[in-house]
Amino acid sequence: MKLNEKTAHELHEMLANKKISAVELTEDVFKQIDKTENKIGAYVTLTREEALKSAKFVDDKIAGGEEIGVLTGIPCTVKDNICTKGIKTTCASKILENFVPPYDATVMTKLKAINPVIVGKANMDEFAMGGSTENSGFHVTHNPHDLDRVPGGSSGGSAAAVASNETIYALGSDTGGSIRQPASFCGVVGLKPTYGRISRYGLVAYASSLDQIGPITKDVTDCAHVLNVISGHDEMDSTSSTAAVPDFTKSLIADVKGLKIGLPKEYFVAGMDSEVENAVKEAAKTFEKLGVTLKEISLPHTDVAISTYYLIAPAEAATNLERYDGVSYGARVDGVDVVDMMKNTRSEKFGEEVKRRIMIGNYALSAGYYDAYYLKALKVRTLIQRDFTEAFKDVDVILAPTAPTAAFKIGELISDPLKMYLQDICTVPLNLAGLPGISIPCGVTKNNLPIGFQLIGKALDESTILQAAFTYEQSNK
Ligand code: GLN
Repeated sequence: MKLNEKTAHELHEMLANKKISAVELTEDVFKQIDKTENKIGAYVTLTREEALKSAKFVDDKIAGGEEIGVLTGIPCTVKDNICTKGIKTTCASKILENFVPPYDATVMTKLKAINPVIVGKANMDEFAMGGSTENSGFHVTHNPHDLDRVPGGSSGGSAAAVASNETIYALGSDTGGSIRQPASFCGVVGLKPTYGRISRYGLVAYASSLDQIGPITKDVTDCAHVLNVISGHDEMDSTSSTAAVPDFTKSLIADVKGLKIGLPKEYFVAGMDSEVENAVKEAAKTFEKLGVTLKEISLPHTDVAISTYYLIAPAEAATNLERYDGVSYGARVDGVDVVDMMKNTRSEKFGEEVKRRIMIGNYALSAGYYDAYYLKALKVRTLIQRDFTEAFKDVDVILAPTAPTAAFKIGELISDPLKMYLQDICTVPLNLAGLPGISIPCGVTKNNLPIGFQLIGKALDESTILQAAFTYEQSNK
């Protein structure tokens, strides 16, 4: 097995025991990038020189007898909506094509404290709006398991980089499924933490009440390690939780005896691919064999989750994206006066999907429609949250598909936004409720496309879903 195919925790052992050097490892990752990136297109920016410098720095530390953390010297890829000081952060948008942040997002500050090796910035749907990475303002990312298919989105670059071994682990962001769905499509692990678990400071805002940063990794162990590094309260983000952060690696225990897992009947919806349904139900059976009690549960407002999400997310997006006016940030297209300049800048530099959402959002927030759409959506959001509160009175964890299908073909849904939105049925309810969810691989279709399922936890209880995910992963080895 080549170095770049290994997990972070395996590589850490090798680094700490001086069997390999961080430079050697980094070179392996870039060799893979040189070989496959022209087919995959996972990256917007590569930071080869800086990466090798960081690797050398870590090697010197190790040579000097310093102890290193599990992620020290391990190559890592960052979604391009997370601000990286001195490194372009484009959100895969032409409007931010040349934006170089003068500061680091809090997750980057935390990560840099343990000396990672940053390989580059990952491609995504523009401003994280999408589920296929086809909405990138620069190029489409391809699924490493089938180049004619999408890697999922919006963190498609992050997931494709991990799955193609063009990095060891990645950071993504999830507003309505954008960590879990691409993880599922690419056959890797992705965790969306509880809202507030991780600081959003320096994450370019899409829908602020839904956005969360999280890890995309090759296994559950790496996921726990990344979460340990990036979690915690931050005074720069008033919505970040002050709750104590447990050591998530303590959850890496293969034992689920006595755990109660709920299967929400509304998630096994009509139109769902039968291969996906069977694989997810098989995973549930595996849990039963491992000592879990399964229970059918109901989350009755699931059918209105998509419409609720596609009002709240665009409303927040329309507000957040007002700042791209050709003055404060990024690109400017001249006009005859200031209004004309703003119009030209936004018309030319935003992509179709971003414009569609700005229009939907502004419509839903307009004086005449606020009550009928936005306010109504907020009320329904509360009902969706209550569904979960009720369900969690009976069960510890909820198991559901991550997406209704495996990876679809590039071009298949892009011209039909409504169909594309329906893909998010299994993921958006968690964001609306602020709950944590982890997507784990559970097999492949007859075409060899990865299938994933998700475990949904109570608020701030990432530990239990990590333990259940770890137990499942170990039983599958
Ligand atoms: N697919 C969803 C959307 O288009 C989710 C995106 C996300 O989580 N960033 O909004």
